[in-house]
Amino acid sequence: MERLQNYIDGRWQAPASGRYDLDYDPATLNVVAEVPDSGPDDVDQAVAAARAAFESWRLVPAPRRGEMLFEAGRLLRERKEELARMMTRDMGKVLLEARGDVQEGIDMAFYMAGEGRRSFGYTTPSELADKFALAMRDPIGVAGIITPWNFPMAIPTWKVFPALVTGNTVVFKPASESPWLAYELVRIFEKVGVPAGVVNLIFGQGETTGEALVNHVGVDLISFTGSTDTGRRVATLAGQQLKRVSLELGGKNAVIVLDDADLELAVDGILWSAYGTTGQRCTACSRIIVQSGIYERLRERLIARMQNLRLGSGLDETVDVGPLVSEAALAKVERYVAIGRSEGARLDTGGDRWAAPDKTHGWFYLPTLFADVEPSMRIAREEIFGPVLSMIRVSSLDEAVTVNNGVTYGLSSSIFTRDVNQAFRAMRDLRTGIVYVNAGTTGAEIHLPFGGTRGTGNGHREAGIAALDFFTEWKSVYVDYSGRLQRAQIDT
Ligand code: NDP
Repeated sequence: MERLQNYIDGRWQAPASGRYDLDYDPATLNVVAEVPDSGPDDVDQAVAAARAAFESWRLVPAPRRGEMLFEAGRLLRERKEELARMMTRDMGKVLLEARGDVQEGIDMAFYMAGEGRRSFGYTTPSELADKFALAMRDPIGVAGIITPWNFPMAIPTWKVFPALVTGNTVVFKPASESPWLAYELVRIFEKVGVPAGVVNLIFGQGETTGEALVNHVGVDLISFTGSTDTGRRVATLAGQQLKRVSLELGGKNAVIVLDDADLELAVDGILWSAYGTTGQRCTACSRIIVQSGIYERLRERLIARMQNLRLGSGLDETVDVGPLVSEAALAKVERYVAIGRSEGARLDTGGDRWAAPDKTHGWFYLPTLFADVEPSMRIAREEIFGPVLSMIRVSSLDEAVTVNNGVTYGLSSSIFTRDVNQAFRAMRDLRTGIVYVNAGTTGAEIHLPFGGTRGTGNGHREAGIAALDFFTEWKSVYVDYSGRLQRAQIDT
């Protein structure tokens, strides 16, 4: 078992409280790490270090900053298998997906390393003679970064890499349920020579450590991914200081299947999106909206395939579905299954905990399908974040779009159809930040903008060049080389 430490101003150190929490493997319930239980004093120190380091880091040429990211990407790639195995033990996702999670970090490192030589601004003609006008990106200052447990490498790298390449310094608070990968990521920054104070790592509980970071006057911006309730609180607190905040929150993502869809392809896409990471991806599919003509065939095919999904420890390469991350997550799934039953939805398969034959006691739940779900039911509107799928019947594409758009979230949606006209109508009308055609609701690539509409966030996007917009301030510069006073709007 490893004892993790905070990383402040280039030094690994114990929390001021001297206390540690325990981090469990959700498949075996063995303790994998001891994690600092930090508090406001540790946050103060980390913010002071990041503030001091900002003045020199912002002056390091951006291509040099990018090279450090490139080196970090190289080390991530070298350690990919080891890190993936740690991730599976830390939070339960199966090895195949843990490798994908680390790969997202590698991709983001190389992509953002390139931004060290791009980060384009622009020049534009002035309305006055002998005058030059340009717009350039400026770093903002200290970035507070707060992440959830479900993508322990991908989400931190989506935030920390663009923050660093654009010249900001970082105080990073990872989720308590998956601390290990955050620790390893910061060790990589140390190894590639990121200067002291530029990246600081603070472990601790959200309500104390996380909130201290959000409230700290020395933090200029907060990049947050997590639940909608916490996001609302973060935005409220940060708003009191007019602090810039990006929020990536919950989802209630749907796959639409039209009568003319390729049935087997749709089933593959649904299973991967709904039960991958045990339904705990922010883009997980938790509703399928199915046209009447294909409804029964799809239902039967899904049930048959679901009953062949293998549960168990994600370290076993033959396993499809790992455990839920915590006892609280398992209890939430149980609550929603009870709600679905009481609302009158038909439980087709699943609906119970699962115990491994070798009597290991992880937090497992059977892949679950509810059919005959009405769009107004709570199981069709609220985020469950577990392996529970609701099947809704519709008569047309228009009705499917209305049902899809009828929830408060807007992260991801997908449509299976062979009709190009229907596909383009869906692309136009689905009100989510991400739309897939003939694929499930997951599978974002790191060079495209990522984020949701409406209740999924507050309008910012991560990844791609969109990420640079959040971590930089636009500065407009006017250079007058006429040698006389020229007045815009007056002397034109
Ligand atoms: P939480 O909101 O509980 O936690 C997210 C992070 O916020 C954790 O680091 C947590 O710390 C911290 N935190 C908790 N309370 C506070 C607070 N008052 N102030 C500051 N920080 C706080 O979410 P989960 O970890 O449960 O993650 C699951 C959620 O994340 C789901 O709703 C999912 O949809 C969403 N998500 C969204 C994504 C997107 O891009 N849209 C991507 C991935 C997940 P601690 O762990 O110590 O509680």
